[in-house]
Amino acid sequence: MITRPTNLLFANTATFTSAPKRRATTRRIRSTAAADVHRIGVIDYDAKAGLLFGLLQKVNRSQERYMFYPVEAPLPTGLGRFSAEVVAEYRARGRRITEEGEAELLENVLVDDFQPHLSSIRSKVGVDMIVGVVAPMLAWTEADGRLRWNFFAVGEGSEAMVSAYHLREFAIQAKRTFEASVAMLIMAQVWSSMFDIEYHDECRGCLFDYCENRSDLTSALRRIIMDPECLAKVPNGEREHVEKCLAVIREYKR
Ligand SMILES: [Zn+2]
Repeated sequence: MITRPTNLLFANTATFTSAPKRRATTRRIRSTAAADVHRIGVIDYDAKAGLLFGLLQKVNRSQERYMFYPVEAPLPTGLGRFSAEVVAEYRARGRRITEEGEAELLENVLVDDFQPHLSSIRSKVGVDMIVGVVAPMLAWTEADGRLRWNFFAVGEGSEAMVSAYHLREFAIQAKRTFEASVAMLIMAQVWSSMFDIEYHDECRGCLFDYCENRSDLTSALRRIIMDPECLAKVPNGEREHVEKCLAVIREYKR
């Protein structure tokens, strides 16, 4: 069931509709938010995390620095999807992709393709940052042209994407709800982009665990904290707000 937002903040839900041969329509988020407020739009493309927005509403009420807004936008058909044909094209361009790699790639979308789409929605809606949540895993191209895949979260500048792939299973193992798990991934990526915090290789049960082994995510989901080293990278005036957001996700129950 999708809960419809009722509080005032969420009354500003932005809608972005793009359809062929029809002008895209958008509604800008009207906000009386102060200048130091970070306004973050969240699009659930196909992850079906309906309860996520109820949780983000609680996060918004817990502090006044990070405001999350639901943004509605359809998943453009075929955007970023890997198919056997797309993989064949990569191979034709000299990229080495193993059979195992190909099987995994078919479960990914290419973030590079979403970037301009997200950027355009972000400026039309008028938020500081935009996060797209999708069901498949995330692939992206490095500066040297190398393709990377199977990611939970990828962000560049003001646009980010989060993947809900297998997240329901990981959430159950960590005794968390699905929406709390999506929310943790969103916040980790938002703060990573905003404060330039890098994900670390060691698995410390921290928001910024890199999770080379994808199931390592469960230890981060169990705790939903930033370890002291990562927390120290959050600027002083922001830290208490970050902690309040995390506390809401940790304490959240349906
Ligand atoms: Zn850390």
